[in-house]
Amino acid sequence: MKQLLKICSVLITIVLFQACGSDNKATVSKPQPVNTPSAAPVKIPAFIADSSYVFIEKQLNFGTRVPGTETHKACKEWLVKKFKGYGADVIEQDFTADFPNGESAASTNIIAQFNPKMNKRVILAAHWDTRMFGDQDEDPKMRNKPIPGADDGGSGVGVLLEIARLIKDNPIDMGIDIILFDAEDQGASGTNDYWCLGSKFWSRNKHINNYSAQYGILLDMVGAKNPTFGKDDVSRQFAGAQVEKLWTLAARMGYSDMFVNKNTGQIIDDHVYVNTIANIPMLDIINRSPNTGSSFQKCWHTHCDDLSVINKRSLKVVGQVVTAAIYKESTGNF
Ligand SMILES: [Zn+2]
Repeated sequence: MKQLLKICSVLITIVLFQACGSDNKATVSKPQPVNTPSAAPVKIPAFIADSSYVFIEKQLNFGTRVPGTETHKACKEWLVKKFKGYGADVIEQDFTADFPNGESAASTNIIAQFNPKMNKRVILAAHWDTRMFGDQDEDPKMRNKPIPGADDGGSGVGVLLEIARLIKDNPIDMGIDIILFDAEDQGASGTNDYWCLGSKFWSRNKHINNYSAQYGILLDMVGAKNPTFGKDDVSRQFAGAQVEKLWTLAARMGYSDMFVNKNTGQIIDDHVYVNTIANIPMLDIINRSPNTGSSFQKCWHTHCDDLSVINKRSLKVVGQVVTAAIYKESTGNF
């Protein structure tokens, strides 16, 4: 019943708020008490921001990653090859995505499994597609053209590829599934329709029968300068314990300027469906600045979302916090 209530409240939320772009006022939430386990020796590898930057640059060099295009396909093949090169067992989960313009296209969730036989597992996720229309662009002539997607798409993937590279060189005693969802960002603006299609598909058709994970961490738009990573309502509702642990860890690492102790309200992103359909707690690290005109960074869903938006300190902070979280988790000290 409790679960049903949760699901109902999320469904109401989905109806009430605009997909991927609602503008709630942020409110300060009370700090929650957190268990502080004693430090155990765990080697946390150094996340290399330059490396993740190059992974973003490489994605952009393919061109836009709109499902159904040749550049999307070429980028997919490169991503699969990279993960395999880092020692992952990779599953390409194909599905058909329907778009607001009435068209549909072949799409693929990419699932890179590390230590696939281990029971204890954590998911790290991002979306790898880029939006087929820059509908927030100031220039009306540009609004039906696909965007570069450096921050929106490229940044989360770039951080996760670097973590995959680190896992290869620093074996981790836990299962990690890096899931790159496709067709997240093709939704109809101002509606709740056609968003997050890859995560919806995966949540209903997990890549392994009876698959489960302890929790998941979603990265979306993590590469812009001076980001604000607050605590959104769905993350707090379904993965509250993990949210508090991760934000506390970030603060201890000196990154509370980015991982702010604020409730950023309602948001629709891939984690909503992993939480409500797959029933796996998943939090979202997403830049939702209260200081910009839209609630996202200023180049969100426009043609200025190119490499010039990407800031290496942001990549370093997010990448290092997530890396620390999983290596600590592997030794039971997260
Ligand atoms: Zn987007």
